[in-house]
Amino acid sequence: MVHPKLFGGVEAGGTKFLCGVADENGVILDQVRIATTTPAETLGAVDAFFAQAGARHGPLAALSIGSFGPLSLRSTAPDYGSITSTPKVGWSHVDLLGHFQRTLGVPVALDTDVNCSAVGEYLFGSGQGLGAFCYVTIGTGIGVGHLLGGVPHTGANHPEAGHIRLPRAPGDQAFEGICPFHGDCLEGLACGPAMQARWGVPAEELPPRHPAWAIAADYIAGLCATLTYILRPDRIIVGGGVMQQADMYPRVRTALEAKLAGYDASLRGLDIDAYVAEPTAGASAGLTGALAIAHRLITRQWPMHWVLGAHQNSVSTLSKVS
Ligand code: ADP
Ligand code: ZN
Repeated sequence: MVHPKLFGGVEAGGTKFLCGVADENGVILDQVRIATTTPAETLGAVDAFFAQAGARHGPLAALSIGSFGPLSLRSTAPDYGSITSTPKVGWSHVDLLGHFQRTLGVPVALDTDVNCSAVGEYLFGSGQGLGAFCYVTIGTGIGVGHLLGGVPHTGANHPEAGHIRLPRAPGDQAFEGICPFHGDCLEGLACGPAMQARWGVPAEELPPRHPAWAIAADYIAGLCATLTYILRPDRIIVGGGVMQQADMYPRVRTALEAKLAGYDASLRGLDIDAYVAEPTAGASAGLTGALAIAHRLITRQWPMHWVLGAHQNSVSTLSKVS
């Protein structure tokens, strides 16, 4: 019997793993949310989910994982496919790629969670049709993906643009930053936990008129200016929890225009509202992006026929893995 091709996706985060199985039309047949605990327990639950889904729907053709990092992504590296040194306790040097190659025995792709969300935006959201764009997340950390023709840019390893150092925002001199590696790099100053450490309350509890927002917007705009000068993408899509604060997009756009300072004719003609865009591929863009990468691993093509509605509305079963 010939099974229809099925694709597996995992969005591996610091608090939860979202796993799904989709068919050739991008309809998610099964999905589950697993709390991130120890690697053994978490990966065991993911294995159990795919075993259960396999029994129900048939074997996977391929799997793709979008994971928190840092990751080792150069195929010739001895630790290729592993998480490298992460502050997330117990998860350093976990061989994600090798684990799923062993347990599933099918082609497996690994990329950053940010790059998988960026692919989700390329296929279903604000990156559709764009030859070159950046996807930025300002959340628990700060991550950046750069896609050319929908394909994430990877050099000797994935970029780490969240860890660049920027000039201090006006009025922000004292806070030492929380990055365990660099202290006051961008992530150390402007990710959600940095805002909490600096102001003493979770970012979402800061009132709209608090000076925190102008400072955060200055740093995010500084990142956008840097990406613009180095890469000049068609668009920068900015997402993540911190951007949910009302007024963040207008604040970042205004601060970015000030930083670009009219430099270069092409920048002067920029439509800033379209350039700094909100993500629109939904909260599970990372999972849908991962599923699309699994599809591409087998077919060598992006599944342009997949539509976001199929992912959102056609979930037939919500599988619980105990
Ligand atoms: P993750 O990065 O883990 O995927 P999020 O993108 O949701 O998760 O980011 C979580 C961070 O965003 C937390 O530090 C939280 O304080 C912050 N956050 C969540 N909601 C808001 C909000 N409405 N305004 C500002 N910050 C928020
Ligand atoms: Zn850093």
